[in-house]
Amino acid sequence: GDAGWLIAPGDPGRPPAPDVRAHASHKGSYGQVLVVGGAAHMQGAAELAACAALAAGAGKVFVKTLSLGPEHIRRAAEHRRPELMDWPDGSAGRLDDSTAWQDLTLVAGCGAGTALDSAGLLQPLLQHAHRLVLDADGLNSVATNALARQALGSRRARGLQTVLTPHPLEAARLLGHTVGQVQNDRLGAARALSAAFDCTVVLKGSGTLIASPGEPLHLNGSGNAALAGAGTGDVLAGWMGGLWAQQSREAPHEVATRSVARHGEAAQGARAPLRAADLIEQMHALQPPLP
Ligand code: AMP
Ligand code: MG
Repeated sequence: GDAGWLIAPGDPGRPPAPDVRAHASHKGSYGQVLVVGGAAHMQGAAELAACAALAAGAGKVFVKTLSLGPEHIRRAAEHRRPELMDWPDGSAGRLDDSTAWQDLTLVAGCGAGTALDSAGLLQPLLQHAHRLVLDADGLNSVATNALARQALGSRRARGLQTVLTPHPLEAARLLGHTVGQVQNDRLGAARALSAAFDCTVVLKGSGTLIASPGEPLHLNGSGNAALAGAGTGDVLAGWMGGLWAQQSREAPHEVATRSVARHGEAAQGARAPLRAADLIEQMHALQPPLP
């Protein structure tokens, strides 16, 4: 039955985050994230996701910006946080290299507009990315592309792992429902999406739900309406990627659950609206100090 598939936040049965850093570790010990997104006028979305991945502790974070002319790319790079690396233009070849895919955790779709699809990146990402967090316009692109829907749905069978992070409108597009239908049965929508695409689904909003194949549905208890603002979703997707890059053996359900919990905890006691860049700092401030 349905009893027992809601886990209370802070369930003591949940293993603690493996957040202790070995003293002799180096940046290569903490994984690599590639953020693909940020088309013209929406570069901030990719930047926020990348900064969140850094703050979560990923060893290296790259940004591949979409659909920009050389001048835009140059200016985007100039304003980029200095710790971030630009994914070199024309390195699409390297994205076809299977060893590169294995080493990367992908966060795709933040501020992507329709460019993931039109740049021919959607299908390769779905076909090859070992660990993929698909957000925002990445989800919208899948919703309207039958081949992409098919590729997404077969990823788990091919040993590739996926987290989808739709807000209610993105979920409605993927399901072919209205937002009202999604919001009237959020549990059903989260489970239907997880079943349809055979992957972890984070249905965002007040009372974020995490649904994964074979896992009890998780209802997150942290967070508040201070998160209802620009860019907070991009921060969540990036943080998830940053955490996953460090713990690449971790189940996506755990990575997603832990990220959503931290995202919400960072908003506790915040003044509204919590600006996305400040949210990243708050999430980082909750990291346990090292001795
Ligand atoms: P997005 O719509 O993609 O920008 O994502 C917004 C983020 O803020 C998601 O992680 C939501 O779950 C979170 N959020 C927005 N409003 C609330 C709320 N009232 N309570 C809890 N979380 C919220
Ligand atoms: Mg969003």
